[in-house]
Amino acid sequence: MSANAGCVIVGASLAGAKAAQALREEGFDGPLVLIGEESERPYERPPLSKGYLIGKDAREQIYVHPPQWYVEHDVDLRLGIAVTAVDPAAREVTLADGSRVAYGKLLLATGSSPRRLPVSGADLERVLYLRRVEDSDRIKEAFRSASRAVVIGGGWIGLETAAAARTAGVEVTVLERAALPLLRVLGREVAQVFADLHRDHGVDLRFGAQVAEITGSGGAAGGVRLSDGTRIDADVVIVGIGIMPNIGLAQEAGPEVDNGIRVDERLRTSYPDIYAAGDVANAFHPLLGKHIRVEHWANALHQTETAAKAMLGQQDAVYDRVPYFFTDQYDLGMEYAGYVEPGGYDQVAFRGDVAGREFIAFWLAGNRVLAGMNVNVWDVNDQLQALVRTAQTVDIHMLTDPQVPLDSVPPDPQHR
Ligand code: NAP
Repeated sequence: MSANAGCVIVGASLAGAKAAQALREEGFDGPLVLIGEESERPYERPPLSKGYLIGKDAREQIYVHPPQWYVEHDVDLRLGIAVTAVDPAAREVTLADGSRVAYGKLLLATGSSPRRLPVSGADLERVLYLRRVEDSDRIKEAFRSASRAVVIGGGWIGLETAAAARTAGVEVTVLERAALPLLRVLGREVAQVFADLHRDHGVDLRFGAQVAEITGSGGAAGGVRLSDGTRIDADVVIVGIGIMPNIGLAQEAGPEVDNGIRVDERLRTSYPDIYAAGDVANAFHPLLGKHIRVEHWANALHQTETAAKAMLGQQDAVYDRVPYFFTDQYDLGMEYAGYVEPGGYDQVAFRGDVAGREFIAFWLAGNRVLAGMNVNVWDVNDQLQALVRTAQTVDIHMLTDPQVPLDSVPPDPQHR
């Protein structure tokens, strides 16, 4: 790329900031523009539903880089302004103020937006979503005065927020439409562990719940009515029912869109010189042999290294990391490595003390480890990732024996 053909990154979040860093680290010294709709400089989202929400992490800890980093690395950081269009023929992006920025290479790191609850009352005050730092501030503030909260959605946001609410001394009801929390991601066996965890901390978990209406008076939420007529009072209602990838720009500009922006293993879209990474990218994963869209921090963190290398023409840049995420809820900390479609495993095997919440879970298909989760057991995730990556059959008796080091688990004697 010639020195005056700049790189433009749309989306100034973790992915955008890390892509800018990777471009500079890989030696790109041309113009580099990072554009974000939010007025905050790039920050990380995991603390917003964990340490920052419970008041353990200070505000300064959430940011990807200090302000001077952008100056020192000659990154033209434009905040508080949306990109409204991409023109692949002219190689330009248009900003909300009508200005245009030319690109040689473009990275779309536009992230995702919370799915909105389509019921009456959802626009009342004290109905809160959690995506941005100001949302986390609002929820934290609400927990200071609330005595009862309803959380709609028993996914990651719902459960981490419920834990934060309980930590703040707020009574919590979680309404999940499935039969268990996190059921789609974890399956029945491990979802039950999270249900038990929250019940043990006094959360009122309701499953198969269909929210019919958010009730209230004077413009503010006062509770929830379910379709079976049940009413639950609350001072604050938090909604965490999933996210939608922000595909609008790509959709209008032309790159292929299919459950996010479709990219190859080098994070290239179907249009030349346009790349995508993070929550919005439905990327071909060589290890899994299919496209997946991963809505987690580690993916946003690492995909951008590959995208930056690919943008600079490095032919060997391929993204094939084992998907990874983590959570902290009360005194439970866990890491998960791997990828399992809903119902895509034939058994879950455990090593350790499940009732005591100190164990490793393995999702298996035909005695191959598809995914592993370490719960309050540490320094084993690299070994779990290796088990997933090698995809060899394993001897399940050895796999579940805590005396056998994870990196010495022999192959299944039946399927050597
Ligand atoms: P999520 O993890 O996809 O969970 C949404 C949950 O809400 C699902 O269990 C879903 O059930 C349920 N749901 C959907 N519509 C509902 C309704 N009308 N009433 C009741 N329940 C409903 O999404 P999220 O918790 O909103 O989190 C947003 C994103 O942030 C996700 O991509 C998540 O991965 C990410 N995140 C990750 C972490 C972490 O890695 N620790 C932490 C926070 C957020 P169905 O499955 O049946 O649709």
